[in-house]
Amino acid sequence: RKKERSIKNMLKDRLPEDLFHILQEAGELGRSLGTQVYAVGGFVRDILMNTPNTDLDLVVEGDGIVFARKLATVIGGRVRAHHKFQTAVLILENGLHIDVATARLEYYEYPAALPTVELSSIKMDLYRRDFTINALAVKLNPGQLGQLVDFFGSQKDLKSGVIRVLHSLSFVEDPTRILRAIRFAQRYQFRIGGQTDRLIRNAMQLDMISKLSGSRIFHELSSIFEEEHVLDCLRSLRDYKVLESIHPLLTLTPVQEELLEELEVVLDWYKLLYLKEEPRRAIVYLLALLNGVAENKILPICERLNLTNRQANELLTLRHHTNKTIYSFKKWRNRRGPLSDLYFLLEELPLEGLLFFMAKFNKEDTRKYLSQYLTQLRGIELDISGTDLQHLGLEPGPRYGEILRKILASVIDGEAACRDDQLFLAKKLVTDPDFMGIEKNMQ
Ligand code: ATP
Repeated sequence: RKKERSIKNMLKDRLPEDLFHILQEAGELGRSLGTQVYAVGGFVRDILMNTPNTDLDLVVEGDGIVFARKLATVIGGRVRAHHKFQTAVLILENGLHIDVATARLEYYEYPAALPTVELSSIKMDLYRRDFTINALAVKLNPGQLGQLVDFFGSQKDLKSGVIRVLHSLSFVEDPTRILRAIRFAQRYQFRIGGQTDRLIRNAMQLDMISKLSGSRIFHELSSIFEEEHVLDCLRSLRDYKVLESIHPLLTLTPVQEELLEELEVVLDWYKLLYLKEEPRRAIVYLLALLNGVAENKILPICERLNLTNRQANELLTLRHHTNKTIYSFKKWRNRRGPLSDLYFLLEELPLEGLLFFMAKFNKEDTRKYLSQYLTQLRGIELDISGTDLQHLGLEPGPRYGEILRKILASVIDGEAACRDDQLFLAKKLVTDPDFMGIEKNMQ
């Protein structure tokens, strides 16, 4: 074989220093144990794509579990071993996960038609991966650190932007790769290779998706929902007839496309608010995808995706709640109610529902009000508490909550900005249950 290309400088330049150091330590350990160690998969792909990824996957031509334990004594962290698969995860103090796998020939069981015997163990390990772009390894042992191991034309495919499987049984062996192919193609804006495209269509004709468990499908869908180009992934899933083969009622009509387009705008807008809370994207996207589906058809789809009862109920409840909120919001807007009423009608709706609401009810001023709610009102707190009411001599009971809510409404409507005003209002409310508010009494 021709001389291997070294990407040592790329590793040095593109990785955080401590991660590069970990690669060096892993290589040193490999040498002292007399085994080859490689970094593999998405980690290598993303170095070459210059979109570094800190999920480190190592493959050891030796005992992966022993290797992980010894590596932990050098760089710290704790090890979780899976003896059945001869793999281990090393979890570092900073939260970084390093997966360590064992490359061993006899471990793999392949259809008889595939040539297996003459493959080395790392080649075998790479051969069972999904696409050429994910089947690169880089040597870590000292003196070889950075040498690429490219058996299947991965570099060429990365350069020309092609998603290509390693052998013709790939999608039959694991149909989740159909969803993965679409996801990677959209993420990197690559095309799916001609032969690979035919193999997907072939696997679809063999109805391979129906053989997948709901959890595996949902897992892949959830990964898609985390991507930047979700709608394009969904369009591609529809065009390959993957959606309908997951469930006949899972569709992507022009109306749904419009809603999802709006949702992407809303999610991008939300990201730019830089708020702490991140939406659970799978929930928001499922709400949108299931928007046109009849109520009684939702549960069967959830069952196909093997969602728990709890997850399915949350979805249904959120859907109801959002629709109810949209209805109340319209009424509030028409009668130009006070801001505190908006607060009270939105306060129970989880973030996922709020974002879905904005996508669904995309009138211009909705975004303005929701933005005000999310950035100013949602986290609002009073400067007084129940203790203050107690000091004012209020008997224990439900009036505590009622009074505090009345004061909160005044704060939101700009009538009781400071603690003194709030205390004044509290005094009035404790002594006079019919007291309506500062403004009205001061006139
Ligand atoms: P991401 O950036 O989405 O995390 P990744 O490539 O790291 O991408 P993982 O799902 O973490 O994705 O997979 C890690 C590696 O394991 C992949 O690079 C690929 O080589 C291999 N792999 C994952 N899933 C499959 C599969 N279904 N079939 C074959 N190989 C797979």
